[in-house]
Amino acid sequence: MARLRLSSFLKEPAHKRRRIILLFALGIVLPSVLLGFLAFRGIQNDRTLLEKERLEANRRIADQVIREVDKNISSVETALTSCAADAGREKSGSSVATSALREFEAEHPLVEETFVLRQHSAIDYPAAKLLYLPDNGGPSVSHSLPPSEKVLAAQRLEFQEKDYPKALAAYRQALKKAGDPQSEGEILNAVARVQKKSGLLREAAATYERMSRDYGGVVISDGIPLGAAARLELATVLRDLNDGAVTVSALFELYKSLLRPDWSLEKAQFEFFSARVKGALEEFLASTPSVPDRTSVKQDLERLETQEKQKRERTEKAIAFHAGAVPALEAKLAGNGKGAAGGALRLAMDIGAYSYLVSIPKPETEDLERQLETWGFILDIEKLRENILQPALLRYASSEDISWVVKDREGSRVLASSNSPSGSVAVRMDFVSRFPDWTLEFYQQPPDLLRTFLGSPRGIYSYMFLLIGGILVFGLVLTIRTVSHELELARMKSDLVSTISHEFKSPLAAIRQLAEMLHSGRLPSEERRQKYYDILLEQSERLSLLIDNVLNLARIEEGRKEFFFEAVELGVLMQQVVSSIREQVGHEGFEINLDAGKESVTAQVDREAFSQALANLLDNAVKYSGDSRRVMVRLSVEGEQAVIVVRDSGIGIRKDELDKVFERFYRCGDELTRTVRGTGLGLSLVKEIVAAHRGSVHVESEPGKGSTFSIRLPLGRQ
Ligand code: ADP
Repeated sequence: MARLRLSSFLKEPAHKRRRIILLFALGIVLPSVLLGFLAFRGIQNDRTLLEKERLEANRRIADQVIREVDKNISSVETALTSCAADAGREKSGSSVATSALREFEAEHPLVEETFVLRQHSAIDYPAAKLLYLPDNGGPSVSHSLPPSEKVLAAQRLEFQEKDYPKALAAYRQALKKAGDPQSEGEILNAVARVQKKSGLLREAAATYERMSRDYGGVVISDGIPLGAAARLELATVLRDLNDGAVTVSALFELYKSLLRPDWSLEKAQFEFFSARVKGALEEFLASTPSVPDRTSVKQDLERLETQEKQKRERTEKAIAFHAGAVPALEAKLAGNGKGAAGGALRLAMDIGAYSYLVSIPKPETEDLERQLETWGFILDIEKLRENILQPALLRYASSEDISWVVKDREGSRVLASSNSPSGSVAVRMDFVSRFPDWTLEFYQQPPDLLRTFLGSPRGIYSYMFLLIGGILVFGLVLTIRTVSHELELARMKSDLVSTISHEFKSPLAAIRQLAEMLHSGRLPSEERRQKYYDILLEQSERLSLLIDNVLNLARIEEGRKEFFFEAVELGVLMQQVVSSIREQVGHEGFEINLDAGKESVTAQVDREAFSQALANLLDNAVKYSGDSRRVMVRLSVEGEQAVIVVRDSGIGIRKDELDKVFERFYRCGDELTRTVRGTGLGLSLVKEIVAAHRGSVHVESEPGKGSTFSIRLPLGRQ
């Protein structure tokens, strides 16, 4: 049972409730709202800050990546400048330039092609290993001299008289006299041809081998290098000799030489040789299915074909550049003028289907001759992307949070982060001097509130929300308690009102009825009249005990009750109370025994209050007596304490209720109690009064056997 103050029943608690609600609003809701608002603002600020920090970080990363790409290109440019300067110093012609550029290309994989732009002419690729040159554009010029007398004679023997042995001898004679490699190569070619015609296939094969070995670079009519022609003929001869494996290897050698390339061919010539070689190899594979290493031949062929395809592409690209870049480059060079600041001239250009990144490092040379030619290079865009851009981005921007895209001029993706870019573009940066013509974009999403909240470095918001949570929980508990208190109060109030009015009603009704009867004087006997008086006395005593109980408890609650202690002989006081009770209930056959001991026991007590406490105990003993009619009251001394015991043999109290009977309004739950009238205030008043006397009250009981209440009071101290 809730512990309630009796006074709170008696006063109207509405204003108090209003105050609690107001306090709750002021003390809990208001600070919570305020704190929540502050925390929310704080998180928002943090979010803005975080966004700014990220933006800055992204900008830094973009800058780093772009600078790294630029640094790599610059280092290639510097290397080319110094390479050009070295070659210029040596001044020993184009072969120096070629080897220097070859070395340069080998050291710088970013370079797709180096070129030399000559004034008033075109572009040269001294170091390029192009598969072929454009038709009619190549330097492969035949240096044939008019045939000598001896050669002419031999040709007569060969073509007109068809006397091959003589022709062979004549050619050999001519060979001895020739004296220059060009003529020697050409005569040897004739020798091999005649040998072939005469059926001397082995000899012809040997001659072709010698030709390709010793005179491979000689260019015969139509600009065909002797080496290529000799190799092709060699393969034919070997095939005629039915030497399969050797034929294949000769054909492969020729194919490899074409791809390396060993000779400088025009496109049509290259196409001719390449078609012949591939045709011969395929024919060979088709006609001789029983070759043991057929699969490996096939694989080798495929490998070389792929190689050819790649080189073809590169060659076509270089040729397109060769054909179309000069005007643009010259215009740009002229535009930059002489006095232009140092650094390289960079140009992103498209010719046909190809895109080029061209850089022409500015030579800082005074050498007039060197100024006539300009060295430059074409960047390998694919390598720049794979070897430089991608690693740089992975190094600086690999975090999960960062998403980026590199786009080319048309807006298509060159490279993108693994996490799909989302949000809006936060940073957009072009590469230095738009070279390559790419844009690096960083995407950013506003950081979400929860992550900001959890990620707040100071953790202050967590504490704030924790505090708010705590306050709210506290408030909730308080509210629940207040509300349940209020409900309990309301329930008890109605209980009390009905109980008290009921308690008042019965004795009042009895008193009134008896008084009316006495007043009318219509009573049969004096005896009956006496009995009525007894009942009148009992009921009015009960009524006043009840009123005293309520009033005293209220006074005690409010701290208004004053106790007047005086030395009282307890035996006498008990005698008075017992007598008064006997008077009230004697007619009902109750036997109340008092054992006050032999010695008088005096204690400091408030006579009236203590009497009331005793009267309450006795009243209960009578009320809850059940069928028994015996009550025992005893006074004794134990040490420094007076012990007053009131024992009955009534209905008793259950063990689990023993502690509760002293609580306000508590009434035991069993049926027997319910038949007896009561308010549940008597024992709580006993407890308060005894406590005011610095004593204690205690109960022992067994249901059905009776209860024993004992009061212990300190002696002689007050
Ligand atoms: P009440 O007005 O109900 O008597 P009390 O505070 O005096 O209120 O007693 C509280 C409850 O304790 C009673 O309702 C009753 O159930 C129980 N009680 C008190 N005295 C006795 C007793 N002598 N024997 C059995 N039960 C008792």
